[in-house]
Amino acid sequence: MAIIIEPFRIKSVEPIHFTTFEQRKQILADSFYNLFLIKSDDVLIDLLTDSGTGAMSSKQWASIMLGDESYAGSPSYYKFESVMKKITGFKHIIPTHQGRAAEKIIYSILGGKGKYFVSNTFFDTTRGNIEYTGAEAYDFLTEEGKIPHVEAPFKGNIDLPSLEKFILEKGPENIPLCVMTITNNSGGGQPVSMQNMKETAVLCKKYGILFFLDACRFAENACFIKMREPSYESKSILEIAQECFQLAVGGTMSAKKDALVNIGGWLALNDNELAQQARNMLIMTEGFPTYGGLAGRDLEAMAQGLIESMDEDYLKYRLRSIEYMGEKLTAVGIPIIRPTGGHALYIDAKAFLSHIPSHHLPGVALVNELYLLGGIRGVEIGSLMFGKYDDNKAPIAPPMELVRLAIPRRVYTQTHIDYVIEKIIEVYENRRNLRGYEIIYESPLLRHFTARLKPI
Ligand SMILES: *Cc1c(COP(=O)(O)O)cnc(C)c1O
Repeated sequence: MAIIIEPFRIKSVEPIHFTTFEQRKQILADSFYNLFLIKSDDVLIDLLTDSGTGAMSSKQWASIMLGDESYAGSPSYYKFESVMKKITGFKHIIPTHQGRAAEKIIYSILGGKGKYFVSNTFFDTTRGNIEYTGAEAYDFLTEEGKIPHVEAPFKGNIDLPSLEKFILEKGPENIPLCVMTITNNSGGGQPVSMQNMKETAVLCKKYGILFFLDACRFAENACFIKMREPSYESKSILEIAQECFQLAVGGTMSAKKDALVNIGGWLALNDNELAQQARNMLIMTEGFPTYGGLAGRDLEAMAQGLIESMDEDYLKYRLRSIEYMGEKLTAVGIPIIRPTGGHALYIDAKAFLSHIPSHHLPGVALVNELYLLGGIRGVEIGSLMFGKYDDNKAPIAPPMELVRLAIPRRVYTQTHIDYVIEKIIEVYENRRNLRGYEIIYESPLLRHFTARLKPI
């Protein structure tokens, strides 16, 4: 197997902090066994999220100095706008401080009681912004996308027959918008094929429904299309991205993902009237339309980051590095979601720790042990995050108990990845000795952020 090398060299370094096993034991106890409550300085390899954690390039740092901080009409906006127009072709480009700010604006305009929004899978902030308006959000993920061990090239695809059935049931006039999330974050960073996007766009057109992209990972998705979809292997990432944006009439993006910045986002639209309404709202919530909640320098960094996000050497290295991790773990029998996605690796904690029942939080047992043994921080996506109670206060488990290891962009080296693999295997070999956790404090909403736990 060919050695994977980073397609960059390092100009500025940032130390990471080593701790001892004994220290980590104490840190875990002091933070009530919840990794959200520990200090990031106490983490060696932080795989909590790929959002806003990427490393900027020397060109991005240079562009920071070019940032023009004029309140209105800054050249930094026009640079950003022109990059965006080239990639997306959308007519109106509206910057926001991050993805959810763009969502808040578009769903406040189109949402409301009695409205339905449809998607392959809504990301949680998107769903939140839709439901906040009184509207309802429905996911139509293809069946194969729901089964962790099934190998398929495009497990983020939308299930078109179920979607059409739903449209006819609820009435197309009650469905303003369909969102394709690329890649499908909540479903493991799995890609959507160009064919599926094309067919969805046609279906939406047939019923007069707007077709939108949640484009947070559009470049990673384009790279998967290039590698996996017939007739795309000789197209550039830019050409594939352009083709996919052309299918839609608008979109939102958190630039903290593929656009390689630490803060930023956008809302883009073709419709003049919608754009007018969106800009009016932007002025109230984010700022003037040529800065939208960002500094001029942030717009510069975002414009440059968007260009770099489509570099094929970088994308192939990134996807390959995560795939490599998956191969090493699979080789020793560690259960993961397959194939690996674009930004993260997901371990099936239910199968990994089959002796720990859901209500004893196997995902938490796994992330905490990874921290204890290796100083690595992952995140549980299972009973702690999504578990509920029935009327008798008995816990209801979600369908899966997962642990996500999200890979920040251009931050860790391949040696760091090898270290993470080694530590996961060590935890696996010792898995029978692991015990579950119980909750001693929880908040009524989003309990995983603040919950206090106790080992059993
Ligand atoms: C991160 C993310 C968002 C929200 O973006 P923020 O910048 O965190 O507000 C929306 N959709 C998807 C798919 C995401 O991954």
